[in-house]
Amino acid sequence: MADSRCSCGFRQSGDETIGDHFLQVFTPEDDSGTDGLVHLEGEADLFCMCGAGGSANELDAHFLAVFTPADLIGRDGEKHEPVTAAGQLATGNPTE
Ligand SMILES: [Zn+2]
Ligand SMILES: [Zn+2]
Repeated sequence: MADSRCSCGFRQSGDETIGDHFLQVFTPEDDSGTDGLVHLEGEADLFCMCGAGGSANELDAHFLAVFTPADLIGRDGEKHEPVTAAGQLATGNPTE
């Protein structure tokens, strides 16, 4: 498994993945996504109330997509973005 780290210093370890970490820092108290809708796991397992999902991975990816702000600033006020083991940003942003 790749060594996934966040720019804030978080390191993937044990059963806490970097995806879990992002969900933790980006999910707002009221579960409202950047699209203005509330996204919560609904009554059907592994589906969001908006209908997205289908598997644990898809649901996580969906939550990350709707909760991650464009500026990647988490609820703690810190910027969180994936970096490679070498400390390079994992996702290139051509506008920066
Ligand atoms: Zn949703
Ligand atoms: Zn982080």
